Amino acid sequence: MTDSHAPIIVKLGTSVLTNGTRHIARRRMLEIVRQVAHLHDQGRAIALVSSGAIAAGREALAFPDLDPSMPRKQMLAAVGQGRLIQIYSELFGIFGIIVGQVLLTRSDLNNPVGRANARNTLNTLFAYRVVPIINENDTVATEEIQVGDNDNLSALVADLVNASLLILLTDQRGLFEADPRTHPDAALIPYVAQIDESVWARAGGTSSGLGTGGMITKLQAAQFATQRGTPTVIADGRLPDVIVRAAQGESVGTTFAAAR
Ligand code: GLU
Repeated sequence: MTDSHAPIIVKLGTSVLTNGTRHIARRRMLEIVRQVAHLHDQGRAIALVSSGAIAAGREALAFPDLDPSMPRKQMLAAVGQGRLIQIYSELFGIFGIIVGQVLLTRSDLNNPVGRANARNTLNTLFAYRVVPIINENDTVATEEIQVGDNDNLSALVADLVNASLLILLTDQRGLFEADPRTHPDAALIPYVAQIDESVWARAGGTSSGLGTGGMITKLQAAQFATQRGTPTVIADGRLPDVIVRAAQGESVGTTFAAAR
């Protein structure tokens, strides 16, 4: 069991929210929300770091044929972020839970005043039993100030609030001995005591690699969080009760031990 007073951060990738389709999968989101509500009812503080703004924007605009330039992605995020929060608000409402939207960029988290403000806001939301739904502030996050991916953003947030656990939910079961797409017999690694170069190699990269998604950013997040004392789990968002089980200390996916 994790420290029951410190918050749990749950990161939801777009692939989890869309269930691998082009559409926001409300039924899947409801299943995630149900699990978060269960832990919330036990008195746990939980924040979601949720992607899906751009996917929701695309859906709302009936999948426009756009080149992937920054202003166009920001336009999609502007359309989608509000819709995403509306869906969360309705789904959490079923369980009598209020949500709050928190949009952050790297520059907010890098400067002491921004950090203090973000920390105070999150802690006050927890104190009022509100579930924060966090995303990068995509409409203003140009390349210089963006985190760029929500795996790393969720690790920064875990550090900010001294989280007891970071759960990265994706469409893969965790970290494998070799890439399961090319090595179908590769075994899942249930526990990683330390993220060393052999672990990076298994994720298909190096610690300095330029990965833009997939396992590399998840390992970067796990390394950042575990070095600052937050154990991290990478698991399949479709696994029944995955959030509840991870919070109870059950082995799901791959667990990375805190380094201190
Ligand atoms: N902030 C982006 C979105 O909401 C997603 C970034 C990511 O998935 O890492 O669509």
